[in-house]
Amino acid sequence: MQAQFDNGSFWFDSLPGSLLPAPVETLPAHVDIAIVGAGYTGLWTAYYLSQLAPSLSIAVFEANTIGFGASGRNGGWCMGTAMGVDQLLAQPARAAQGLAIARAMQQTVDEIGEVCAKEGIDCHFKKGGTLTVATRHFDVPLMQQRIKAHQAQGFDAEDFVWLNADESKRRVGMQPNHGALYTPHCASIHPAHLVKGLGRVLRNRGVSIYEQTAVSRIHQHELVTSRGVVKAAKILRATEGYTDSIEGQKRQLLPLYSMMVATEPLSKSVWDAIGLRQRETFGDARRVTIYGQRTQDDRLAFGGRAGYYYGSKRKAVIDPQDPMLDHVARNLKGLFPVLQGAAITHRWGGLMGVPRHWRPFVTFDRVTGIGSAGGYVGEGVGASNLAARVLADLTLGRDTALTKLAWVDDVARRWEPEPFRWLGAGAIQWFGDRADRQEFQTGKRSRFWGGLFNQFVG
Ligand SMILES: Cc1cc2nc3c(=O)[nH]c(=O)nc-3n(C[C@H](O)[C@H](O)[C@H](O)COP(=O)(O)OP(=O)(O)OC[C@H]3O[C@@H](n4cnc5c(N)ncnc54)[C@H](O)[C@@H]3O)c2cc1C
Repeated sequence: MQAQFDNGSFWFDSLPGSLLPAPVETLPAHVDIAIVGAGYTGLWTAYYLSQLAPSLSIAVFEANTIGFGASGRNGGWCMGTAMGVDQLLAQPARAAQGLAIARAMQQTVDEIGEVCAKEGIDCHFKKGGTLTVATRHFDVPLMQQRIKAHQAQGFDAEDFVWLNADESKRRVGMQPNHGALYTPHCASIHPAHLVKGLGRVLRNRGVSIYEQTAVSRIHQHELVTSRGVVKAAKILRATEGYTDSIEGQKRQLLPLYSMMVATEPLSKSVWDAIGLRQRETFGDARRVTIYGQRTQDDRLAFGGRAGYYYGSKRKAVIDPQDPMLDHVARNLKGLFPVLQGAAITHRWGGLMGVPRHWRPFVTFDRVTGIGSAGGYVGEGVGASNLAARVLADLTLGRDTALTKLAWVDDVARRWEPEPFRWLGAGAIQWFGDRADRQEFQTGKRSRFWGGLFNQFVG
């Protein structure tokens, strides 16, 4: 019974107590605001709405259990940036919009830390920053140029800092390591403690969360669920990579998989070699993203972006024997040879939502009373909090600085039908892999495969 509510992650496995959802309650006939999806987006939206408008009745409907999706199984990087920000900053006419989102995202990391402290959510929050290690020589001048460009764009000197090879190796004993770009705007968290903690806080506040209640259709002022119909003045969708489970929502968000492993708790001597004393998160500049964090109980949790399945197939859990996980484990041990003898105790994966334009959106239609937020492309731990605050303001008709951010109403067109979607997603993965492999082998930038990758990702 418990198995179907277990997303397979180390994070769920390390939660105290049972994973069984709360007993199923009778659904209400009517609520003021209905939210679909109990991940970070849905729960943060409920959190801010209940704070701004405590008299409204708010209900969250969740197909499985709180945090079953990406929010309960991610890499735990609470990042002070988001997808699409660099593209905005690179366009002179839109750079100010990019800077506004970047600043709001930096502040969001502190907002999450402060709310967790205030509400008693112990999600192992540690703002140690993040290190993007130069694993190829040519990364060094590129990263240094990037820091200069950021300063010209209006960032402060301490927002992005260059660490030379000695300092970078002292911070993270990763190989190769020619230096690193460091930003303090990132915290390491235990994702499942955050999402389950939010659920607890909301229930204590009187927000209803109906688990095991899948929504199959959203009409104006009406939700059709697996347990009956509910009327609602306003309906907010927060279903990210699972969005096409709702009628009429096909091809809005492409479910793309990311895979993770976690080691056993590592000894002091291993950590003396690896570092990460501030629990800095870390990665490098390759195209097919890798990401890691030192957990509070001294494991190394590490992941990498993986693939897409034909027809947007969604897998509730990933088979721990999946060969893509072997690749992630090999990558980890290659970067940290000191881990050769360390046991990998957990292997899991999950899906994230990718819109056709590869950047987040928040939208609310005052006429229909229907809104949504998402599209974080694997960078939603922090971004979902900001998106939720924007969505709460839009829903309540508040005109604030947040509702002027460029995410508002920036909804992408739908993805192509199959087989074009599968061919496109496969090509992106293939070009990215190919370019990364060539660059590691030759030590030179891959202009051809890298150029194709950039063209496809836009
Ligand atoms: C392996 C992995 C690693 C990642 N690492 C990071 C990271 O380190 N940093 C970072 O910033 N981001 C990371 N991400 C992305 C991040 O986790 C997501 O962007 C974020 O959790 C999205 O939150 P959400 O609430 O929008 O979606 P989800 O957490 O996916 O929540 C959606 C919820 O909606 C429910 N649902 C879906 N359909 C229905 C329906 N029809 N009816 C009712 N309920 C429904 C689902 O069961 C789910 O609980 C990672 C993602 C994965 C998969």
